[in-house]
Formats: sequence, structure tokens, C-alpha cells
Amino acid sequence: MLIELRQVSKVYRMGGVEVHALRGVDLQVEAGEFVAIMGPSGSGKSTCLNLLGLLDRPSSGEYRFEGQNTASLSEVERARLRNRRIGFVFQSFNLLPRATALENVELPLVYAGVRDRRRALAALRAVGLEHRAGHLPSQLSGGEQQRVAIARALVMRPALVLADEPTGNLDSLASVEIMSLLQTLNQEGITVVMVTHEPDVAAFARRVVQFRDGRIVSDRPQQARVAERVSG
Ligand code: ADP
Repeated sequence: MLIELRQVSKVYRMGGVEVHALRGVDLQVEAGEFVAIMGPSGSGKSTCLNLLGLLDRPSSGEYRFEGQNTASLSEVERARLRNRRIGFVFQSFNLLPRATALENVELPLVYAGVRDRRRALAALRAVGLEHRAGHLPSQLSGGEQQRVAIARALVMRPALVLADEPTGNLDSLASVEIMSLLQTLNQEGITVVMVTHEPDVAAFARRVVQFRDGRIVSDRPQQARVAERVSG
């Protein structure tokens, strides 16, 4: 089992008020799955993704990643695990504006103390952007910027990619390209967990988990949509 949440709750305290963002969530994801997390705004999707990405800790319950109880890890160990095993893709791409595409992709390697330009270039090639290596984010389309962000997520060869509304800033054509790229990566063995509120985007996943009021209210496998090849 790659991911296991057991009775996970998350309570935020704000000025004396408690917000119960997650209320006893059980979730298991096996290596190789492609899961879409859906649900209305405020239902706990981002909170769940933050916990899965080791960006935050549960208030109660247990999170096991690759069989290991993450509660026993120090902050340094969590950061190391995050850098090496988990790639992140965000709605807003989160690229460094003054760094080239290649330099952005190299960043996780630099953090890990492995300077390896060839490996960064290979990750850019995997998303079809080797020819844009020297471009700044501002010189790339939205879809290209998201492909750079995906290359950055992949460069450490993670077990898991977490995507938060990965097509939220893209037009429909670029969205389909990004989703078929995520599908290809998933077919190559990377586990993908993605938050989206768009049914068209969730259609690319093989399993859909619905949240409401901090709880999972449905969890179903589905036949994934296959993108038609864009000609030309
Ligand atoms: P979703 O991603 O489904 O829109 P969230 O996980 O962002 O939902 O939020 C779940 C609930 O927790 C909401 O009521 C939200 O206002 C609250 N919440 C989220 N993050 C915080 C935070 N950092 N501090 C306080 N409340 C928060």
C-alpha cells in the first residue's frame, strides 16, 4: 500500500473557533492508481492533499506512507521524504519567474544535493519540452509552463505525484494535453492523486473519491477517458 489514512481528522483553530476540515477519513491508495478527489468547496480536499504531501500533520488518526507511520518522522525526515518520493503540481504552476525551464526542473535535484543537468534535461524531454529548456516561464504558454512543472515534479523519480487543480488555469485544449500527460506518467507506474472540481478532468482518473463536509461520501472505480490524439 502506497498511502493509508486511518481515521484522520484535521481541526484548524482560528481565534477560538474550531474548523473541522477532515472528520475521520479512511483512504487507501495502492501504487499505480490514478485517483481524482472531488467535492464542493470547503469539503476538505486541499487539506487532505496537504496531509498526503506531508505539508501538514493530522490532528488525530494515522498516515502511513509506503508502510511507514509518518507520525514518527522528524521535520527533516519529512522534508527529505517529500523531496525524494513526492512530486507536486499546482494550479498556478509555481515556477520561479527568473529561472529558465531547465533551471526550474533542476531545483529538486539541487535541494537533494545532486547537480545533474542531464537528468533535468531528460525530464524536460519526457514532457516534450527539451527545445524550450532555455526559455523563461513568461516565454512559455500556460500548458507549456504546466509541463515544466510536471517535469520538475518528476525529476526525482517520485512514487507519488499530487496535483491540485492542475488544469485550473488552462484552456480546454491545454487541459486535455496535461491530463493525457498525467495519464501517460501513470501508465509508466507513477501514482497520481489529483484534486479537481471539473468532471471533465476527473474523467481521466481510474477512481473518483468524493468529499463532503470533511468526509468521504463515495469512492468508485471508473473507466478512464482516453484523450484523442491532437493532430498536426
Ligand atoms: P476544499 O479544498 O475542499 O475547498 P479545504 O480543505 O481548503 O477545502 O477546507 C476545508 C475547511 O477547512 C474549510 O472550512 C476551510 O475554510 C477550512 N480551512 C482550510 N485551511 C485552513 C486554515 N489554514 N486555517 C483555518 N481553516 C482552514
